Amino acid sequence: MDWSLLPKDNPVQSVRIRRMLMASVASAMVVALTGVGAWLNFVPYSTFWRLAAIVSMLVAGFYACFRSGLNLRLSDPSLTLPMMVAAGLTISFVQANAGEARDDLMLLYPVAFMFGVFHLARRALVVMALLFSAFYAVAMGASVWPYRMAADMRYEIFRVGFLAVVLVWFAYVGGNISALRQRLRRTNDELKIAFDRVEVLANHDGLTGAYGRRHLMALLKREGERAERGTALSICMMDIDHFKSINDTYGHGAGDEVIKYFCATIQSALRAVDLLGRYGGEEFVVGLSQAPGAPAVLVAERIRERVAQSTIPCLPAEKRITVSIGVAEHRAPDLIEHTIARADAALYQAKVAGRNRVVLAD
Ligand code: GH3
Ligand code: MG
Ligand code: MG
Repeated sequence: MDWSLLPKDNPVQSVRIRRMLMASVASAMVVALTGVGAWLNFVPYSTFWRLAAIVSMLVAGFYACFRSGLNLRLSDPSLTLPMMVAAGLTISFVQANAGEARDDLMLLYPVAFMFGVFHLARRALVVMALLFSAFYAVAMGASVWPYRMAADMRYEIFRVGFLAVVLVWFAYVGGNISALRQRLRRTNDELKIAFDRVEVLANHDGLTGAYGRRHLMALLKREGERAERGTALSICMMDIDHFKSINDTYGHGAGDEVIKYFCATIQSALRAVDLLGRYGGEEFVVGLSQAPGAPAVLVAERIRERVAQSTIPCLPAEKRITVSIGVAEHRAPDLIEHTIARADAALYQAKVAGRNRVVLAD
């Protein structure tokens, strides 16, 4: 059970509760002011006590609603409308029972109304403006009813109209603000999607979907740093044998397809933690984390065999390609570039030794 004021594991609920608590602080200040009014004999004490009780119950009720997660079952979990209605009714109650201070309390309607301005759409705000004006009218009626002979009804109706105009104007401006906020949020979302897409494009090779060289190097460097803490790491450098002849015989388009199939074949032999990147034209580098030299050679052998056995859709059925692979075990704290150079040298040896083979760098 989490007894803290705000839930620690739910930032969205925390924001909602913090907002509700801010409104509670404002309500507490109104209660305190009413207390001062009672002390100065402008407001009956009974009104002050009843207001204090109502506000305490509302604050406790709304807090319990948020903290229990009950608010999440409603279409607007921020409870803006219910809180505004509760505030409007409470203000009307004090006003109806405020005696001399009744007119000063009119100021509280715009204050409570501000609470919704940043959250509700224009139409909801206009409805709230009219509702608040109606609350005021009722409060006014209730407070002058006993003395209706003395009260100037025309003046009271003028005041209701006045409040309605002010609140509707607030609703209009508030509607602009919410529209602006919504547009800002939408633009931010779009920007984030665009940024993610650009990041994927920048980090991946367009033809094969494997990591591009720059990103691969950054990832391998990070793996190299981890290797300094004791994890094994091996690098395999792979190059398709006699690839130029494939381009020459079947065309560049077929060559591209071969590179794609080659990459997919390598990927099929790897674990999710391994890193595969396109290093150059038909050269790929694989980073095998947690694998020292000997197991890495086994993985490389598996890849070599799969490549040699695979049929490639864009080539004649009997045509096969082969790959030569140089493997180097990373020796921390060596530079990762140095390990790649050793894997490249081993690849060269594999080519010289007749291709379609795996060579482990010493
Ligand atoms: P080796 O066995 O020694 O590796 O012989 P090779 O013919 O494969 O020689 P090399 O690795 O040097 O050849 C690379 C060729 O790959 C040269 C280039 O025309 C071709 N190439 C590089 N990038 C691409 C590409 O994106 N698409 C296609 N179709 N060909 C590419
Ligand atoms: Mg080649
Ligand atoms: Mg090459």
